[in-house]
Amino acid sequence: MEFLILCPPVATPSETPSGAFLLASGLSARGHETALLDLNLEFYWAFFESHRSADLDAALDYLMHPGGEGRRHRFDGYLPERHRGATGVLHKKLCAFSTDHPGWQLSLMDIEGPAAVHDPAGLLEALAKHDPFTPLYDACLNPVLDQERPKRVLISLAYLSQLPATLSLVHWLKRKGVTPTVGGSLASSMARTAKGLDHLASFLPPLDLGDGLGHLGGPTPEDPHLLDRLAFPRLLSKRPYITCRPILPLTLSTGCFWNRCLFCPDRDLPRYLAKAETLQAFLESAPPEVIAQRPLIHLLDSAMPPAVLRRFLPVVRNLGLPFYGFARPSHHLLKDDLLFEAAESGCRMVQLGVESGSKALLDRFNKGLVPDEAREVLRAAAQAGIRTYAYMLFGLPGETAEDWQLTLDLLAEESASIDFLNLSLFNLPRDCELWHRASEFGMEVAADRNDYPLKLYQPFTCNGVPPRVPARKFIADCIQAHPNIRPAFLRTPRAFRAAHLALMRLPQRRDP
Ligand code: SF4
Repeated sequence: MEFLILCPPVATPSETPSGAFLLASGLSARGHETALLDLNLEFYWAFFESHRSADLDAALDYLMHPGGEGRRHRFDGYLPERHRGATGVLHKKLCAFSTDHPGWQLSLMDIEGPAAVHDPAGLLEALAKHDPFTPLYDACLNPVLDQERPKRVLISLAYLSQLPATLSLVHWLKRKGVTPTVGGSLASSMARTAKGLDHLASFLPPLDLGDGLGHLGGPTPEDPHLLDRLAFPRLLSKRPYITCRPILPLTLSTGCFWNRCLFCPDRDLPRYLAKAETLQAFLESAPPEVIAQRPLIHLLDSAMPPAVLRRFLPVVRNLGLPFYGFARPSHHLLKDDLLFEAAESGCRMVQLGVESGSKALLDRFNKGLVPDEAREVLRAAAQAGIRTYAYMLFGLPGETAEDWQLTLDLLAEESASIDFLNLSLFNLPRDCELWHRASEFGMEVAADRNDYPLKLYQPFTCNGVPPRVPARKFIADCIQAHPNIRPAFLRTPRAFRAAHLALMRLPQRRDP
């Protein structure tokens, strides 16, 4: 085998990690023998199998076959209350991880060790005393290395939650005489807007910050972009993902067509628009047993470009595959019945960055969003039977009580069109435009302390107060407690977020 791609724990075990999957697809499409081993999935299953009980079995069974084994196509989809109960059982079980591995705590999306995750040296010290990952590598990775004898081993590091296991994996591989390359979105986003990439690199083997074509000698004029050619890759894990449908990551574009928000950590990412033929060829290359389960396509775009979305719709409609993705709630989505056509073609959920009900606040940060347009988009999506997942942002510099009230009014008045809610607090990415212009916005950016060597965000205050403190209180006291808004908040599970939300059964929305 030419390339073995490894996904270390910990990430939510509901779908193939997207960056690794697309890298494997791109290398496979170019004729390179490639396979992906999802060690994260194996990690969770190893834990669940060693802690089996009737309630755990029932919870896992529900999350994988909500309609009952053998009837899954007729009664597909989750009920919010049952989903909440099942994930609660999983979380309770995961508490036992701390008993097995003192000092380590595991949830369905994160792991915390005896040292902070922003401190690679501290993590290595903790791993030297007790490493919760090596039994997994001995059991799962050893046989794969023996059988497949890969020429290159690539580790995909997308989240900080994967850092402890990545450090452990690099050392484990070194003991086997293997020097991997570490790539993935964590390092590339750190290179853009965070502090500590050099520090991180000093603990890892060569870091690859490219899109993957560098492994083949780099992009060329004939082959400029990894995503131009994709073929369904070979997946080595035999374990099922914790989902009732396979979830396939795919992307219509990279970068963002708006690209102007002052606090965007992804500004100026290279722009790429996928061709409908590429997406069609990729989906047609999926094994028949995957297509037979009607996989749910997860569009990874920062914001789906409406024109490319329109070209994508006939592809999914012809194949009968559902999809969901993130969009800017602007008038572009309202043109020519785009949302209705998307629903007819398989769109089951749209994640909408509504962010605020205050146009003045949105304008201040160049968001280019109009709350009245967002309201129209929410209503149009709901009327078309598409689930809506509204992303709201609080704690922006200069946010006032009037801004909060406008947001509360929007959420309360549009509650019939909002199925799920993400209520988040603003973090200031290091090195974005707002960071450079902080004083214009009345922000006092905290001086760098030598606390943690890796930093993705930078604390700040306005008039001596971090805006997230009063914002957090407003969310708890007024937003979450509001009788119109509370149902969407309760319907939104804390774990298995977006993909499982697109698979929820809701009255007034199309079947998943
Ligand atoms: S819409 Fe999102 S991705 Fe695009 S510029 Fe704004 S914050 Fe960045």
